[in-house]
Amino acid sequence: MKTNDGLRVSELFYSIQGESSYAGYPCLFIRLAGCNLRCTYCDATYTYGEDGRQMTIAEIVDFVQESPVGLVEITGGEPLLQENVHALMEALIADGRTVLLETNGSIGLDKVPDAVVIIMDIKCPGSGMADMNHPANLERLNNKDELKFVLRSQQDYLWAVEFLQKNKLCPAASATATRKHPRILFSAVTDDLDPAELASWILADHLPIQLQLQLHTLLWPGQNRGV
Ligand code: SF4
Repeated sequence: MKTNDGLRVSELFYSIQGESSYAGYPCLFIRLAGCNLRCTYCDATYTYGEDGRQMTIAEIVDFVQESPVGLVEITGGEPLLQENVHALMEALIADGRTVLLETNGSIGLDKVPDAVVIIMDIKCPGSGMADMNHPANLERLNNKDELKFVLRSQQDYLWAVEFLQKNKLCPAASATATRKHPRILFSAVTDDLDPAELASWILADHLPIQLQLQLHTLLWPGQNRGV
């Protein structure tokens, strides 16, 4: 270990953002090592199956500063497991970047800087991790943030819609321009659920949910790392 401002990094890379309303934009990725969950559909098991490499915040910021790209995503694994991620987010904001934080939703968001765009999962039953959701986090999200449901089945879909209704996150008449709550994203687990079927359920229910296609799996099928 080098210094106490270090982070365990799984990989640093440059790719197309694939899983949020920012999907399609060129983006720098900081993927931190370690995860406290074990989702049934995880395609990033290497983030917790390997130690990753220890880097200082300055070294990670150097990687970002080598690029003119303004969009930076911190992801994992679960990035909030490492306390120093908060200082990293502050450093990237101070550097003028738009910072996205992708989190599995099981850890408190209290120390995440306000300027960070939070893309938070709500784990559905099909993930095997639905009892790890941290409901207090919903209070922290606002209309710049995003709430993501990854679905394996119609049971997951119905569970997710009920979750939204119970938490008043998805009023039927909500318009994007006036919404106060986070953007709601639904996506289908590749090989488990046909996105066209998911689209038909969203249309039938007339809900302001944004269907997401996992762009990187379409562009680079079978490739998990560095995309
Ligand atoms: S939270 Fe993400 S990285 Fe962790 S097990 Fe689930 S899918 Fe994999």
